[in-house]
Amino acid sequence: MSGRVDRLREALEEPLLVTTPVNVRYLTGFESTNAVLLVEPERVRLFTDFRYAGRARELAGVEVEEIPRHLYGHLASRLPALVGFEADALTYSNYELLRSGGIELVPRRGLVEALRAVKEPHELDAIRRATDATNAAYARLAEEQFSGRTEKELVWRMEELFHACGADGCAFPVDIAAGPTAASPHAVPGDRVVQEGDLVMVDSGVTFDGYCSDCTRTFAVGEVADSLRQIYDVCREAQQAGLGAVGAGVATRDADAAARAVITDAGYGENFGHGLGHGIGLLVHEAPGVRPESKDVFKAGNVVTVEPGIYLSGVAGVRIEDLVVVTDDGCDVLTSFPKELTTVH
Ligand code: ZN
Ligand code: ZN
Repeated sequence: MSGRVDRLREALEEPLLVTTPVNVRYLTGFESTNAVLLVEPERVRLFTDFRYAGRARELAGVEVEEIPRHLYGHLASRLPALVGFEADALTYSNYELLRSGGIELVPRRGLVEALRAVKEPHELDAIRRATDATNAAYARLAEEQFSGRTEKELVWRMEELFHACGADGCAFPVDIAAGPTAASPHAVPGDRVVQEGDLVMVDSGVTFDGYCSDCTRTFAVGEVADSLRQIYDVCREAQQAGLGAVGAGVATRDADAAARAVITDAGYGENFGHGLGHGIGLLVHEAPGVRPESKDVFKAGNVVTVEPGIYLSGVAGVRIEDLVVVTDDGCDVLTSFPKELTTVH
């Protein structure tokens, strides 16, 4: 823990009030829905209520202050006169409570997130294990009968496969979309029965030791139309271009642009309405962002997805998503399930 807090301190101009639960967890290992951390130059204080205080006192290097459950009503008298706060997390009501208690508040953004974006070896290990379970589950899913089953039935089966392959749980609800349903990048799986000729998009991931994986593959059910194969091939080529552009020191938006150019050149620029990817770790979506408007630059140790998609309204959707670790000279692709269009039955 102390290494992370020390690295955070190097970036601080005043004590920081950490209120994002996942950031508290990252800095202390402590999981709670009601805990606030104050990182000062000489000490780290955790404010929480009686439900969590006992467990919190077992943390090394953290002073625990038990206060009533509505923490923010009781914090001001315990804080220094000037603190930084996580501007993307503190609610306006809680901000007002601290202000009216006489605290001067400086908005700060992305400080802990920047640390979380560069993974430590044991974090990479957990993400690799999560991805291994994901790879194994996709391999088993590809042996399943798709046609005649509903999207929801396949979702349930995928969850079973994840558990069978050693995952702790799902990182997010399994998303399986068949035929025209997949034309929306975040479709809700329903009662549509998968049919011969469908493209089926499967987007899912697991958690292992608290860390997430994320993978999308698009399957062909029996023979699919040439036009669908064609958008698949364009997407695959774009995904390869995106992978080829990732590396430490590269602006993330340049990787997005490399993949996007392939799709745009093929005439489907309008049909790729989301960013190329996102960082992943304790959360499924975290820094760095890999989007046209992102100002992030890849660092070695980032773990990101590379996931271009093409969505044809009313017809079909394809997306191919790998998880990669950014290295000094490129990236290591963790996702191993094949990217040739896999035919299922
Ligand atoms: Zn995904
Ligand atoms: Zn993703």
